[in-house]
Amino acid sequence: MTFEALGLHASVLKALTEAGYTKPTGVQEQAIPAALAGRDLLVSSQTGSGKTAAFMLPALHKFASAEPSAEAARTPNQQSQSARARGERPRFRAAQPKMLVLTPTRELALQVTTATDKYGAYMRRIRAVSILGGMPYPKQMQLLAKNPEILVATPGRLIDHMESGKIDFSQLEILVLDEADRMLDMGFIEDIEKIVAATPDSRQTMLFSATLDGVVGNMAKRITTEPTIIQIASSSSRHENIQQRVHFVDDLSHKNRLLDHLLRDETMDQAVVFTATKRDADTIADRLNIAGFAAAALHGDMHQGARNRTLDSVRRGQVRVLVATDVAARGIDVPTITHVFNYDLPKFPEDYVHRIGRTGRAGRNGLAISLVNHAEGMHVKRIERFTKQLIPVNVIEGFEPKRTAAPRPHKPNGWKPGDSRGGKPGQRSFSKPGAPRREGSSYGSGNGSSFGKGPRGADAGARRSYGDR
Ligand code: ADP
Ligand code: MG
Repeated sequence: MTFEALGLHASVLKALTEAGYTKPTGVQEQAIPAALAGRDLLVSSQTGSGKTAAFMLPALHKFASAEPSAEAARTPNQQSQSARARGERPRFRAAQPKMLVLTPTRELALQVTTATDKYGAYMRRIRAVSILGGMPYPKQMQLLAKNPEILVATPGRLIDHMESGKIDFSQLEILVLDEADRMLDMGFIEDIEKIVAATPDSRQTMLFSATLDGVVGNMAKRITTEPTIIQIASSSSRHENIQQRVHFVDDLSHKNRLLDHLLRDETMDQAVVFTATKRDADTIADRLNIAGFAAAALHGDMHQGARNRTLDSVRRGQVRVLVATDVAARGIDVPTITHVFNYDLPKFPEDYVHRIGRTGRAGRNGLAISLVNHAEGMHVKRIERFTKQLIPVNVIEGFEPKRTAAPRPHKPNGWKPGDSRGGKPGQRSFSKPGAPRREGSSYGSGNGSSFGKGPRGADAGARRSYGDR
């Protein structure tokens, strides 16, 4: 399959060639034809699978194919010269975007905007603009005054502009919710509902999410019409190109020594070290710098400018070790990141999947290492149940933990022999003979719901079908 075969507009094809894309990824192959046909889409596919192009290419194709007269009729929203000459108060005409992409974080929004600029480089006048928290209002007003075709926004700030009448969605043709599950996790559900309600029913809606279960699934059903459902990988996607490991540590000093040792690995190009708190991110980045690593922190307390500068330094290779919190690291897409370290384990297993997805980008291999103290064994098990993969425990000579870990083989919930998502040959099997079983344990029994018991639970819904709607 080629991009030409998908029937994309010549200007889009030219940009793709320039970007070095030779063929569509799996999700693009499935999503683009459906999107071009005007269908609503619900898509779950793992990070790094090329979802941005999956929704942006068909949109750009549509805009490029629109009659030139409609394009030409589109004018910037500036007050007319004559009105200004007459001394009338400046009146701001609301921006009327044709496409809106909602993303959970500023980084992700900027990334989508950058990708759009790349994919739309040969189009005559398609402008993509980001509307983000943390950006000065006057700057955003300037951007909106240009009446951009495409808005990429985080929900909160967008609502502010909508409420002050700066944006009018009556002309909106395409609505995209990128990383919808994450937006809901971050508490944006009401904002999203409000934004969706302000858009025409005739819009095309495309929703992307790691999972289409639970709360996300419910919202997805409400805001789409007869959607085409594309599930490339289950929510507990296997990340087969990413090797995972756990190292047990006795205490903080052990953890720090081990981290320093692992960061000296010659195969390491760049790494992201995840911490639970912003303060830890700062402290560890400082400590690593003193230890001679080119390290930098990235977290939500930093100004947008500082965050962008840090990410640029990572992309340019000036920063080798990025110490980050979950929210800040969301959407980081740097193909040269070879290692991900969980200095602290994430609170939710989904975050583990998102974290390790920062490596192994664009088809490369990656290594994800969790530094875990003995009390966190249960946490590791929750992650293993979620991903349906056992994470091998590694020990490095000279860094052995004093305590040995409790026996860990177990049967993750929902896993059945022959499950297509189960172990591959040569991998440690879940049903190893003689391994301790947890019969009748709280998570193993009966109802098919996952350990989370709430909307976050993934296993149950992964098998639920939308086909009966
Ligand atoms: P996702 O949103 O699924 O996590 P992205 O859209 O951010 O993935 O894409 C991940 C990476 O893959 C980006 O660096 C992007 O430029 C690259 N990419 C996307 N599609 C293709 C393709 N068809 N060929 C080569 N690289 C691609
Ligand atoms: Mg994405």
